[in-house]
Amino acid sequence: MPELPEVETIKRELAKVLISKKIKSAEVFWYKTVAPLSPPEFSKQTKNKVVSSLERQAKILIINFSGTTSLAIHLKMTGQLIYVANKRPLASKLSFDKNIISRTPLDIIAGGHPNSQMTEKQPSKYTRLIFEFTDGSHLYFNDLRKFGWVRLVDDSQLKDLTRHIGVEPLSKIFTDQVLIDIFKKYPNRTVKQILMDQTLIAGIGNIYCDEACFIAKILPTRKSSATKSNQIKKLRESIVAVLKLSIQKKGTSSRNYRRSNGEPGGFVPHLNVYGRTSEPCKICGQKIKKIKHAGRGTHFCDRCQK
Ligand SMILES: [Zn+2]
Repeated sequence: MPELPEVETIKRELAKVLISKKIKSAEVFWYKTVAPLSPPEFSKQTKNKVVSSLERQAKILIINFSGTTSLAIHLKMTGQLIYVANKRPLASKLSFDKNIISRTPLDIIAGGHPNSQMTEKQPSKYTRLIFEFTDGSHLYFNDLRKFGWVRLVDDSQLKDLTRHIGVEPLSKIFTDQVLIDIFKKYPNRTVKQILMDQTLIAGIGNIYCDEACFIAKILPTRKSSATKSNQIKKLRESIVAVLKLSIQKKGTSSRNYRRSNGEPGGFVPHLNVYGRTSEPCKICGQKIKKIKHAGRGTHFCDRCQK
C-alpha cells in the first residue's frame, strides 16, 4: 500500500503534467470505483473539467478542478495511476527502458501497485477508469483488487471525507505535545497501534512506523504508558525525519509501490529494519527480527530498541 511519501511523490510528478488539462471524457469500467455516482453521472459531471492543482491529505490524492469540485483518489492496496502523453502511441508493451525515460521523462508517469500491468499495454484488464484529456493524453486508474476509489466531490464533501483523518505529520500542528497527548489518551495501546491509527496521525503506514521506531530506539510493541515524554519527543522527530527523507528520495519500493516512472523508490538503501529480516542491524550488527504485531509484519532490533 502506498504510504504518505509515495502519494506525495505521485502528486508532485502528476502535477508536472496534469495542470491546465481539460477532461474530454471519463470511461468507467467498474461502477464501485466512482461510487456513489453512477458511471454515466460521473462521466457527465467530469466532462470539460480543467485541472487547477493537486494536493494530498494523508494518503488521499486530490485533483482540484477550476471551480469548487475535486477528484479524491485513494489507491488502497493495489491502485495504480498511469499517465500516458499523446506523443507516444500506445505500444504493445509500454517500455520503461532507461533511455526512453531519460529522453521523455514526462511521457509516461506511473505510480502505485507495481505489478506487471503497470508496464503493459493500457488499458489493462484491471483498468477501472480512463480519463481522456482534450490534448489526447490519458490517465488510467488500474486496480486489481478493486478497493481503491475515485470520487467527484465538492468542497463540503471533501471536508467530510477527510474529517476523520488524524493530524498531518508534516504540518506545523504535529508538535511534541500533540503526540504526548495522544500517548496519554491511549495508555494501553502499543506504540505501533498508535502510529498506525489513521484517525490519530495521518499517513504513517507499516514501513515508516517501523523505521521511525528504530531511529527513536523504541520497540514498536512497547506500551504507550511505558513511554516517557522525552522518548515521545524523539519519536516525533524520527517520524518527521523519516518521512522527509523518503519524500526527498521519492519514496520506497515495496511490493505495492513504485515511483511514477515505474522505477523503485530511492528510499530503499536508507531502510534500517523494514524488509531486512535476519540481516545485520546497521548499528549493532545483531540480526533484525520480524514478528506479527498490530496485524502487520513488524521489524526491529531488540538490542538497539527498548
Ligand atoms: Zn541494533
